[in-house]
Amino acid sequence: MSTDATRGRAPRLVLLGAPGSGKGTQASRLAERIGARHISTGEFLRAEVARGSELGERVRGYLDRGDLVPDDLLLGLALPLVAGAAGSGYILDGFPRSIPQAEALDRRVAPEVRVNRVIRLEVAPEELVRRMRARAQEQGRADDTDEVFQRRLAVYESETSPLVHYYARAGLLRSVDAEGAPDEVLSRIQALL
Ligand code: AMP
Repeated sequence: MSTDATRGRAPRLVLLGAPGSGKGTQASRLAERIGARHISTGEFLRAEVARGSELGERVRGYLDRGDLVPDDLLLGLALPLVAGAAGSGYILDGFPRSIPQAEALDRRVAPEVRVNRVIRLEVAPEELVRRMRARAQEQGRADDTDEVFQRRLAVYESETSPLVHYYARAGLLRSVDAEGAPDEVLSRIQALL
């Protein structure tokens, strides 16, 4: 199938998946490979918390609990990042995370910057927990505890998973088996672009 990406135009991609599904790993490798910008709202927010900025102080509690940061704050920082990646294309990792965020992304950016492909990373629940525990040891992320992780999974189910239908209806959704070695998963993703 011919897509914008295969025609060499900048891809505008959303990686959709539960916490621990490998969005961050895959987004950063794919971005490097295809020259698109990796936009991670979670990384952006963690950096603000780490430097103790005013924004960081406002969002810290949400991240610590595993809750979503409110849309007024989140959209104010995420939409300009997306709009700024018009030339290079982008890979969104962790945004949008709810139907209202996806609608804002559809309505509030210029048509030429809108999402043109969504890839859902599918991983079994036991594997998500195993990966989270491994990451907790490697990276020491404050929200990688069993309790907060369960909350993040619940928030994913209630707020984010409806996006699967939202993007399927729009004809943009593809799914990949995201278990196995990161390189294999990356190849499966690239095969869909
Ligand atoms: P992530 O690194 O994508 O797992 O995000 C870590 C945390 O940052 C989430 O648990 C939320 O608290 C917050 N966050 C990241 N992206 C969003 C978003 N699109 N909407 C609301 N909160 C977000």
